[in-house]
Amino acid sequence: SAVTPEKAEPAPAAPAEVAISSRERVIFPDGGQTKGDLADYYAAVAPIMLPFAARRPVSLVRCPQGRGKKCFFQKHDSGAFGDAVHHVPIREKDGGSEDYLWIDDLRGLLQCVQMGTIEFHGWAARSSEVEKPDRMIFDLDPDEGLDFAEVKSAATHIRDRLADLGLVSFAMLSGGKGVHVVVPLSPGHDWETHKDFARRFAEALSLAEPDRFTATMSKAKRKGRIFIDWLRNQRGSTAVLPYSARARSGAPVAAPIAWGELKGMENAHPFSIDDARRLLDRAGSKTLAGWGFAEQALPEV
Ligand code: ATP
Ligand code: MN
Ligand code: MN
Repeated sequence: SAVTPEKAEPAPAAPAEVAISSRERVIFPDGGQTKGDLADYYAAVAPIMLPFAARRPVSLVRCPQGRGKKCFFQKHDSGAFGDAVHHVPIREKDGGSEDYLWIDDLRGLLQCVQMGTIEFHGWAARSSEVEKPDRMIFDLDPDEGLDFAEVKSAATHIRDRLADLGLVSFAMLSGGKGVHVVVPLSPGHDWETHKDFARRFAEALSLAEPDRFTATMSKAKRKGRIFIDWLRNQRGSTAVLPYSARARSGAPVAAPIAWGELKGMENAHPFSIDDARRLLDRAGSKTLAGWGFAEQALPEV
């Protein structure tokens, strides 16, 4: 297909017309941001977020009573979402099929927020082509207490190794502890190829520098190291979407950054839902022009 990975339909600018109840409910107790603040954040960043979110099956982190109370990860419809939250049946391993959710406009985003959604996570494939992944993510998960400087140098190291293979990549601050190195890919190859490439790439890095990297999930193996989480790249896995808010202290958001900005970053959560204006300005600036876009295929290795 000739569709470029992150080139979705432009976000519609029409008013949302989604009623948000309990706008005054505090969702982030430490900073005091309310459900209304969160809805306003998503309404503001919809034009820059939807190109990355639109038409991917999404999983939601819902915290109806706020992030201090019970939150849950939701993959399937509970029947209560609005009409702008669409369904796509996806074949399961057991041969059955389950309906996953996807949205493609501001109304869809806000209908999720109305249902208590804080975080949006997306598949690495479009709903229309779920067997053809279109982006690879290396999710850098540092061991507890590891300096952020280590995460930054790991991310640029990965960027350089990917460039050696002819692949362009982009950096995203997760809004939590780590950096995601994002590799847009033209859909074509299957999940097996996708996962296999990601695994071998991560294993090669940890083999070359075992003191610095591990490609194994085990916490014990992570001691003082960075786990290169390549498991985001298997069928059914998700990763937090650009500009998604995080259900964490400070109401941070996942934020695309330019590679040149990374060394100046002190942590993975410099932006919050209070920064919609700044994020919009950044997204429209030269710094982030073309972020997340590339027409490229996995090399044969
Ligand atoms: P951080 O930088 O703090 O690691 P992160 O978004 O990378 O933030 P991870 O814990 O590394 O967080 O998780 C990676 C991804 O795993 C998430 O982005 C999410 O899509 C997925 N994930 C997280 N929680 C669940 C869950 N309960 N069930 C399924 N997938 C999950
Ligand atoms: Mn992570
Ligand atoms: Mn992870």
